[in-house]
Amino acid sequence: MPVAVRFAPSPTGYIHIGNARTALYNWLYAKQHGGEFILRFDDTDQARSKTEYAEAIVRDLEWLGIRPDRIEYQSKRFPIYDAAVAKLKDAGLLYACYETAEELERKRKLRLARRLPPVYGRDALKLSHEERAALEADGRTPHWRFLLPNFESDPFETRRTEIHWDDVVRGHQTVDLASMSDPVLVREDGTYLYTLPSVVDDIEMGISHVIRGDDHVTNTGAQIALFHALGEEAPDFGHHNLLTTASGEGLSKRTGALSLGSLRERGFEPMAAASLAILIGSSESVSAVRSMDALQEQFDPANASKSSAKFDPEELTALNRTLVHQLEFADVRDRLQALGIEGEKAEAFWQVIRGNLDFVPDAGAWWQIVTDGPMRDGEAELTGEDLDYARQAFDSAPAGPWDGTTWKLWTDQLKADTGRKGRNLFMPLRIAITGRTSGPEMSDLLPLIGPEGIAARRP
Ligand code: GLU
Repeated sequence: MPVAVRFAPSPTGYIHIGNARTALYNWLYAKQHGGEFILRFDDTDQARSKTEYAEAIVRDLEWLGIRPDRIEYQSKRFPIYDAAVAKLKDAGLLYACYETAEELERKRKLRLARRLPPVYGRDALKLSHEERAALEADGRTPHWRFLLPNFESDPFETRRTEIHWDDVVRGHQTVDLASMSDPVLVREDGTYLYTLPSVVDDIEMGISHVIRGDDHVTNTGAQIALFHALGEEAPDFGHHNLLTTASGEGLSKRTGALSLGSLRERGFEPMAAASLAILIGSSESVSAVRSMDALQEQFDPANASKSSAKFDPEELTALNRTLVHQLEFADVRDRLQALGIEGEKAEAFWQVIRGNLDFVPDAGAWWQIVTDGPMRDGEAELTGEDLDYARQAFDSAPAGPWDGTTWKLWTDQLKADTGRKGRNLFMPLRIAITGRTSGPEMSDLLPLIGPEGIAARRP
């Protein structure tokens, strides 16, 4: 069977770095096997799904370097799910239930008190035709549960029923179908929960591997049973560990925390996000991988650890810094242009500045320093003797043209003239010229600013 995978987000918010992990697991797996990657929107919940989020997800994936071969929307496929429902009902595998949430909760507590597993006891299966009609006449509409194959002949006599699979991430997995409730596939209002549409689509779309977060492991047991109930072989499965915030909370699309969009806006490199999203929580050390091809070579789903991994924004910044320091001018020309950094000095400027940047957009502030004058935001100011010294130094600046040796020439002379050394010698000049106490080598900055530029910033 040819490899086909899908990334199946519900478009109910902006995707975050944890969703990126799932998307990339699928993308890299497809790339490694010459397979197809389908972006499938789980948008059966039409109240919460929004086109705006779906569009943002496409944009965020593209930023990351993921271009789906196909995009599908579950909301356009209801007739296919309806047909599957009819098939399951005909086979007696989907049964109507009428309990309210409160009634279910009461039943659950009763079972717990009787030391029974807190699963749904299939009471609705005992309802006679007349009882159902009476409930419906009373205004109740049913929700529908899938009868799990966890019994021999009597559904009230469940027995351990193991479902096994070789998980491409976690290795051998076992789930006992007797340990779970029959899943609700269709709600009272006729809408679908994700379980059935997902299986139907995986069949219809020829999905060979379902790769998703390990919060779905138990689900997979029920879904494999559902594949079989629909007369199909189940695909292969892979469940990767999840990412949490630094304090251990799950990431949520709803809060917008660590969304890919916010990382992009801050100026993160997509490969910094991709490297971390893939390598964190695995036996590989986290490093900045420069291209998706290189990440593909390194990627092995079986390297993921079993426990969740903490996402540390500092670590992402460190990866970003490493990548930015390696970026060639050609890689960033367009982005620099958008920041107003262009012209004959632009390339030399980039070479000088990149080693000081955590983020490409931060080059903008340095471009202003080089072209307009020192930063005057009060972060670094000259006073007293240092101010006098700087004025004197500016008056004795060497004549042009300037090159990489000018700074040394200038400061050697100042050292001889004033007896100043080290920080006392250099720092007042750095502050006068840049308005900052740190930054690129002054010997590199001087030729960029030039004699006139320097003269103009005499304090
Ligand atoms: N919409 C589901 C989720 O985001 C998809 C799970 C799956 O890949 O099957 O958890």
